[in-house]
Amino acid sequence: MNAAKTSSASRCRCLVFNPGLEVLDYRVPAGAQVQPGSVVLAPLGPRQIVGIVWDDGRLPGDDYPLARLRPLLQVLPVPPVPAPLRRLIEWTADYYLSPMASVARMALSSNAALQGGGTITEYRLTGAEPGRLTPQRAQALERLAGEQATIRELAAFAGVSDAVLRGMVTAGLLEAVRVDSDRAYPLPDPDHAVPDLNPGQQAAADRIIDAVRARHFAPFLLDGVTGSGKTEVYAEAIAAALAIGRQVLVLLPEIALTQNFLARFEARFGAAPVAWHSGLKASERRRAWRQVALGGAKVVVGARSALFLPFADLGMIVVDEAHEIAFKQDDGVRYNARDVAVMRARFEAIPVVLASATPALESLAMADAGRYERLILPDRFGGALMPDIRIVDLRTEQPERGTWIAPPLVKALKERAERGEQSLLFLNRRGYAPLTLCRGCGYRFCCPNCSAWLVEHRLSQRLACHHCGHEVPPPAACPECNEPDCMVACGPGVERIADELAQILPEARVFVATSDTLNSPDKAAQFVELVSGGGVDVIVGTQLVTKGFHFPDLTLVGVIDADMGLEGGDLRAAERTYQQIAQVSGRAGRGEKPGEVLLQTRHPDAAVIAALASGDRDAFYAAETEARRDAGAPPFGRWAAIIVSSEDEAEAKEAARAIGGTRPNLEGVAILGPAPAPLALLRGRYRYRLLIIARRSSDLQSVLRDWLGTLKFPPGVRVAVDIDPYSFV
Ligand code: ADP
Ligand code: ZN
Repeated sequence: MNAAKTSSASRCRCLVFNPGLEVLDYRVPAGAQVQPGSVVLAPLGPRQIVGIVWDDGRLPGDDYPLARLRPLLQVLPVPPVPAPLRRLIEWTADYYLSPMASVARMALSSNAALQGGGTITEYRLTGAEPGRLTPQRAQALERLAGEQATIRELAAFAGVSDAVLRGMVTAGLLEAVRVDSDRAYPLPDPDHAVPDLNPGQQAAADRIIDAVRARHFAPFLLDGVTGSGKTEVYAEAIAAALAIGRQVLVLLPEIALTQNFLARFEARFGAAPVAWHSGLKASERRRAWRQVALGGAKVVVGARSALFLPFADLGMIVVDEAHEIAFKQDDGVRYNARDVAVMRARFEAIPVVLASATPALESLAMADAGRYERLILPDRFGGALMPDIRIVDLRTEQPERGTWIAPPLVKALKERAERGEQSLLFLNRRGYAPLTLCRGCGYRFCCPNCSAWLVEHRLSQRLACHHCGHEVPPPAACPECNEPDCMVACGPGVERIADELAQILPEARVFVATSDTLNSPDKAAQFVELVSGGGVDVIVGTQLVTKGFHFPDLTLVGVIDADMGLEGGDLRAAERTYQQIAQVSGRAGRGEKPGEVLLQTRHPDAAVIAALASGDRDAFYAAETEARRDAGAPPFGRWAAIIVSSEDEAEAKEAARAIGGTRPNLEGVAILGPAPAPLALLRGRYRYRLLIIARRSSDLQSVLRDWLGTLKFPPGVRVAVDIDPYSFV
């Protein structure tokens, strides 16, 4: 449909941002110009609603008489949503059984940006000498150094009220600055600091660069061991895209990694890329969104939500650490950004690079089937060796009672301390202890909203639920038997390992690195600086430290509990354990000094542990592949989960039963459940699950639509469909 034809029509079909309504017809008022993709403001009852003009024909609608259609109120001053992104919105909604409005909203993710450009007023400290200060003003002065933002953002940042800051403006301590909300970003220069790639890296880079220049769809699996220079390789492809004036999107699994990436990128290209994540201030969001849409943001690095940004001229997508489950969103639209990135590349007709040292089985299967081109980097850059991996058998090498670090690891830690090298201990459990008991009566501290234990956090002096965020101070006495000072910690978390380290190496500077301590890009950057500058001897960390970081003086990695990930036993337990341990091992010996990894385990013979110790990745993947094939699991079969929940237990159960009772009986489709979910209570909602296992050839989405589409539930019941589920709790 060309633009001229639609704009001459006097009616148009809109995707409106209301998941229940989706599609409405409107009249285009005389003089207004719309085309497919135009972002508009439309009347809806007494309200106004944002919508996107959709291509005729694609959306169903009835032929309402033109005279009775309400006119659009305004065409918003932003570029129309480009056709490839409209196709992606349709595909994502279809595939994940989500309302198109919910998907489209992820693309139009800054309300302020839709109002157009213009100037906004921000404030900053003037530097004037303050006289006597109230405590609040003193606090604001201290916290706002170097900051510039709107009054409201500054107030939130400084922890004071708007009124305090307005008073400071009057007193001449803060000044207003007019800034252009659309101001351009510094342009990255593809020729700024070009590295010398080694022949293997160059060969891989050339394949991607060719595809960038050819401007066609080309999916790559960049499969290189940790430290092989995957980032350097795809950076050269980014340079090629910049050289032909196109934009690039780089997706990272954690915002904690962005700062690291920004610094490296800036060293290579002379200007930082544009960051996109949930921690941006509203004004930063607005500027980034508009520059993406106008083409001025050349390279965007972001979390999964960046995937739906309305790029003006996208030339390539990179998904780094593509195996990470953080790319799967488990609320709202339950999509997998890795898979949707490949679809976006297809619609945009551009290359997409999935980079990983431990690819997902699904991605390897695509490469084996010839659908992705596999680019292999078998060696670490610059002659660095892969670390030596040794098993510590906890059955024979027992830690002392009440401790978790076994003698061989204690010895290795002491050696590193003597040599002035750094160590990393990995335990994927935040807090001090996963379970707290009363010593008097055995009472277990549990979350009132979830079927989960409360986790003791000593640093912040809280008992916290890791599922819903519920927090209480540690009680003075047992709520059950009134025993004072009753709490006994069971099992280790990272904080407890740090305590144990203080006994082993009293002089060592220990950093506990988790989402509690690295909860913003700035804090992550400080952490990187501290470790790189030698200010930390031992890092104790969760999965957050398994990826991305490059610390040349880190030569020892200790895995406290290599068996932990296998406990839950879900579909990907072994694969995830393999990935996590291989990744964290990959942090050791990245510089000139060789690295060593000690895996503490009670199951040295388990296939995944043996594969890690022998470095036989191929054998592990081959065995996993066979297990998946036998189970009819992805990528050999299609899976979907149905999660039924309600605050009312009986209502949830009844709804789950109704769904189970109307299950279709189809050849090649097995339906398990309903059964209470492993997390039977989550955030105050009772939950039931069903699992659908279908043949690859079956149209799982249609089956689900036909089945669930006819059922009606009470308003308190939520029925969520999770296609290609990653979480089974
Ligand atoms: P990966 O992403 O595969 O783990 P990186 O891209 O982080 O690997 O590379 C590991 C280290 O080696 C980094 O410090 C990187 O700067 C360096 N490196 C890799 N390739 C080159 C190269 N061709 N020239 C200079 N340094 C390189
Ligand atoms: Zn909870």
